[in-house]
Amino acid sequence: MYTMERHLQDRDRVGVHDAVLLEDFQSEDVFVENLQKRFNENVIYTYIGQVLISVNPYKEINIYGPKDVKAYDGKHFFEVPPHVFAITDTSYRALKEEQIEQCILISGESGSGKTEASKKVLQYIAEVTDHKGEVERVKNKLLVSNPVLEAFGNAKTNRNDNSSRFGKYMDIQFNTEGNPQGGNILNYLLEKSRVISQVKGERNFHIFYQLLSGADEELLNKLSLRKSPESYYFLTHGDKSNVENINDQKNFREVTEALSTLDFTEKEQHDMFSIVAAILHLGNIGFVEHEAGKAKVSKSEAVEIVAKLMGCDEAELREALTHKTIETVRDLVTSPLNRELAVYARDALAKAVYDRLFSWLVSRINDSLQSGSKRKNVVIGILDIYGFEIFERNSFEQLCINFCNEKLHQLFIDLTLKSEQEEYMKEGIKWEKIEYFDNSIILELIEEKHKGLIAYMDEECLRPGDPNDTTLINKFNTYLSGHNHYISHKKASIKVQKTMGRDEFLIIHYAGHVTYNVKTFIEKNNDLLFRDLKEAMSNSSNSILNTVFTKSEVLNKKRPDTAITKFKNSLNNLMGILRDKEPAYIRCIKPNDIKKSGMFDEDLVKHQVRYLGLMENLRVRRAGFAYRRVYEQFLHRYKCLSEETWPNYRKGSAKDGVQALVKSLGYTDGDYQMGKTKIFIRHPKTLFDTEDAFQE
Ligand code: ATP
Ligand code: MG
Repeated sequence: MYTMERHLQDRDRVGVHDAVLLEDFQSEDVFVENLQKRFNENVIYTYIGQVLISVNPYKEINIYGPKDVKAYDGKHFFEVPPHVFAITDTSYRALKEEQIEQCILISGESGSGKTEASKKVLQYIAEVTDHKGEVERVKNKLLVSNPVLEAFGNAKTNRNDNSSRFGKYMDIQFNTEGNPQGGNILNYLLEKSRVISQVKGERNFHIFYQLLSGADEELLNKLSLRKSPESYYFLTHGDKSNVENINDQKNFREVTEALSTLDFTEKEQHDMFSIVAAILHLGNIGFVEHEAGKAKVSKSEAVEIVAKLMGCDEAELREALTHKTIETVRDLVTSPLNRELAVYARDALAKAVYDRLFSWLVSRINDSLQSGSKRKNVVIGILDIYGFEIFERNSFEQLCINFCNEKLHQLFIDLTLKSEQEEYMKEGIKWEKIEYFDNSIILELIEEKHKGLIAYMDEECLRPGDPNDTTLINKFNTYLSGHNHYISHKKASIKVQKTMGRDEFLIIHYAGHVTYNVKTFIEKNNDLLFRDLKEAMSNSSNSILNTVFTKSEVLNKKRPDTAITKFKNSLNNLMGILRDKEPAYIRCIKPNDIKKSGMFDEDLVKHQVRYLGLMENLRVRRAGFAYRRVYEQFLHRYKCLSEETWPNYRKGSAKDGVQALVKSLGYTDGDYQMGKTKIFIRHPKTLFDTEDAFQE
């Protein structure tokens, strides 16, 4: 049991478990020092009120076993040390007992431990709920969906050996008894450019290597594959096919077993792996230009294999890879592609096929996770999505990711900072208004209708003539330079200008300054796949390909939405989903850049503390009341501590009871305030003392 005495003992050794308890709560140094003290003692979790901070230990710590689950099961938040299980338990209880929908939002930079945390959330829920029949079956499916999605959506990067290259939101659906009965996954923005190239030291998506090293002879033969990754152009860029900590062979077995658990048929599995293999062969198709401007396939056998694996007509595929058909007002006009464009078309096909395969996979998993029951369900959502990114060179992808983080930050402000103050108002509590930075102004810059960065980018992409990256940045500079958070090359200070190219612009994000290079923006936003290739895919006999490339898409004359507009719409949809729920936050921190245990890089941590907005969070939390409890609950738990309320309390309302109780416990006026429905306690220590008395 976590008592005050233990808390004080702990404090000397491992710092405070809740940053609200820090005497100097304004100091970033003190805050980080506290995290470090704890980290050095293998205590990786710390709170700011209800927000959990997790520092990646980069080693196994023995705190996730059955005993630990039991220690948190059904306990109050303040009775037990900080843990991802405590956060999960609190959400789960609120869902089960009060039927309030929950979401657990996990953020942090690459390698900080988001995905591991999300797995612990799921593990905890799986362990504290029923272990019978249908419930067990559903839980098993939820758990095994992870290795499948990671095989296709994760890759080794220089930051993380198992980096999620997509955003993921997963709903776990519960029945009224609080048992899981289904689930649903939404996926965001897969980094599909990785399919065709990787930077040094990184790999393509895990599944390619898994298939090569895990498939048996028979399957390899069927897919015309050789075991060595070096045989495939798309796997040769990062020159890193073997990774120490990754066992591709074992993981492949796990994936195929998981696919069976998720009811994928033999045929579906065969069609999936045919596509994966086809992409590898596709990369090996080269082009030559015997006649100027007219590309021809240089290696026939690769096309033959791709056509066979994709279930396409070989001649049609060959044509589609080297020609482009455009629809004019009157008819269709076909023209040859030059070598450069043919390579572009091939790569675009590989990316599109993989991207759509991934989305198909998610929707197919969702089919399997659908609960058969028509009974009403309530959900806990778990969001594991890319954190803010500032690289040396930032492109279209970073803009999307950072835009997403601005949206999430706004949600955080709305749901915690604003709602905190709103609750005081609603409950009639006196408080000091606290200032925080509202990032709406940055979102306006990015997404405002007709006048935001996205609007100008889309306008430029759709403009007839020759829109290109230079005309795009000129447009940005003309229309956006008036905005305080947009800095063009011209507007930048001399010092910044030195580090900036003319094809770059800078956005002052809530988390810091990011310079974006506009090169390839138009191409990535247009995300074009030539009509001929779409058509060839829609004619395929592969059941997945002809589902994800439809005939109507080929015939549709309307231009599809641009990449960023699609992303914007899916984000707004996500915000709608999250806004209706009660949030819990897990903020993950990476202690060093070299994946090493026991190493705490203060500067690196400070940087993350800053852009996760933790100091601001702490300030708001301290300005207000650390704990609050509905009168009935408070009275129910602590009534035995006073003669006023024990053994019998019959005098009046629960509020009167609590008032009498805290008076007799010696609370002073500064310690607490009485709201309309809840008691608000300013300092956690007050509650600790009460809890201590209760434990005795
Ligand atoms: P990305 O954004 O790249 O997907 P991430 O935040 O999801 O990164 P994880 O994949 O969860 O990061 O964690 C990276 C690695 O750190 C894990 O593979 C694991 O080795 C280690 N790790 C993370 N959390 C823990 C933990 N609680 N205990 C032990 N090791 C951990
Ligand atoms: Mg991850």
